[in-house]
Amino acid sequence: MNNIIAAQLFIKRNMIKMSCPYCESIHEVRRIKRTESIVFKGKNVSYEAVHYECNNCHEIFDSAQMMDENLLAAREAYELLEESVSPAKIISIRESYNASQKAFGLILGMGELTINSYEQGKSIPMSSNRLLLHLSENPLIFFEMYERNKNKIGLIQRERIESSEAFKTYKKLGGLKNLYNSLSESSGV
Ligand SMILES: [Zn+2]
Repeated sequence: MNNIIAAQLFIKRNMIKMSCPYCESIHEVRRIKRTESIVFKGKNVSYEAVHYECNNCHEIFDSAQMMDENLLAAREAYELLEESVSPAKIISIRESYNASQKAFGLILGMGELTINSYEQGKSIPMSSNRLLLHLSENPLIFFEMYERNKNKIGLIQRERIESSEAFKTYKKLGGLKNLYNSLSESSGV
């Protein structure tokens, strides 16, 4: 195909000429984007889908590449949904350390108001999401960050956190260094 023919395929307003499977002839076709949702493993997943819309019959159809793109978009949206930490979960993690929203945010190296907005259900960036997930799986990460950032929070908050059951459990384990030492000893490293 030479350049002139290729250029003729692309006409104004995102229209291209191609064979419409409904009309069974060549028509102007427009590339459209719209939000769609599917139920996947019992969860309602919303994602941005791409399609062609025939300018003649207004039916919608997909190229093979679009089907792949849409499947990928749906799967990515599902994974994001599956991975995200719920506001209730964040509250329960924070409360297990007796920490205020502000103190919790400062210890985790986030802004003072960040935890508040997450607990209100505002969207969480992937990086914070991952940290919170690791935190819910491994509390030692919290205490490692606590040791690093405790000077950023007030004395009253520190006393509250250090009197939490979670903190006492952490102390009993002897902290992260001890845990690593015992792990490397037992694995013979
Ligand atoms: Zn058509």
